[in-house]
Amino acid sequence: MQGIPLDLRYTIPEKGYEKFWEGLTKNEIWGTRCNTCGVTYYPPQRDCPACMSSNLEWVKVSNTGTLMTYTVVKAKPQGYENQEDYVIGIVRTDDGVDLMCWIKGTPRVNSRVNLFTDGRRVVGEIHDV
Ligand SMILES: [Zn+2]
Repeated sequence: MQGIPLDLRYTIPEKGYEKFWEGLTKNEIWGTRCNTCGVTYYPPQRDCPACMSSNLEWVKVSNTGTLMTYTVVKAKPQGYENQEDYVIGIVRTDDGVDLMCWIKGTPRVNSRVNLFTDGRRVVGEIHDV
């Protein structure tokens, strides 16, 4: 049976987002915050989807947070078919940004997570005590 390819990755342009891409190579997570309504976005947005303002500034997002939810990916998207099962989670950073990332370690909701970058993406490492 022929399946329908699903591309689950989001696309972030290079131009205007150099700070974001550079951050991924320096263990820095960058988002943008709306100066009008105060919402912080990760991945970064140029315009605020909540209030339509274009008055956004770059903000560094905390490298620690709490695992809110996760899923074990068994049915992989195109290009990842041969990869072992992996975990994708939503981490609420200590400064209140919800970001999606790969999870390393044994996931459990409310686990403490250290976030780092591997050059291409953000990875959350479980570090329960
Ligand atoms: Zn706004």
